[in-house]
Amino acid sequence: MRRDSIFLSIDEALAAVCTDLRRYDPQIGLLCQIIRLVSGGTVVVEREGQKSGAWISMQGRPNMRWMEGPDLVEYACAAVKGSDWDSRLVSSICARAFHTRTLEEMDRETGQIGVRIETGMEGFSCRQCGRCCTSLDYHDELIEEDVARWERLGRIDILKWVRIIEREGEVRQYRIWTIPGTTRLADSCPFLKKISSENRWDCLIHDVKPAICRQYPLSRKHGLMTGCPGFDPKKTRGR
Ligand code: SF4
Ligand code: SF4
Repeated sequence: MRRDSIFLSIDEALAAVCTDLRRYDPQIGLLCQIIRLVSGGTVVVEREGQKSGAWISMQGRPNMRWMEGPDLVEYACAAVKGSDWDSRLVSSICARAFHTRTLEEMDRETGQIGVRIETGMEGFSCRQCGRCCTSLDYHDELIEEDVARWERLGRIDILKWVRIIEREGEVRQYRIWTIPGTTRLADSCPFLKKISSENRWDCLIHDVKPAICRQYPLSRKHGLMTGCPGFDPKKTRGR
């Protein structure tokens, strides 16, 4: 079976790792592994039972410091971004962060060194359960291209559910799905329709749905971490 993968430059891969670390509740085990890896063992990291934090030895200081939550995440991200990494180490960090197989690779066109990362998406099959539409917080994720497309197509029926948030005369953000004429979010997407007879949900604007909806889930890990049942969780991947 052909495996779905993407190529990222070293900088892109490290940025993706930090996005992943910030996206979910602190992944304490993963954060500890990554801090150990990037410090080359010079930083001591110790967990305390199942507590959601870790003791970290600060370089050049005798005492350990307790870190948890966003502080620990930001500490790990600063460590990840703080140096010039070789592709082998970055590949290893990505494999742990994304729970997948990775490979150091040179981009054939640009000669750029980076990492090929398997997404695990070849094992995905949407069950049309509607969970992503009803439970994920994507309300501020609409992008300008979505709005431009709907304007080009004259999709007033969709645009009327988009609230444009301006500051100092400039568009700062789009918020979906806002009840027309109000600033209140709708309880659920107005284009989600239950097909009761088949026990599934349909997207009534499937062909023109926002990029955030088209791209979900980004990877097997993203799907599993956000409750998408379109993967078999028993099939483990990675090293
Ligand atoms: S949660 Fe997953 S399986 Fe369910 S509708 Fe969304 S993408 Fe499909
Ligand atoms: S636009 Fe379609 S895919 Fe996106 S939330 Fe609404 S029903 Fe779901």
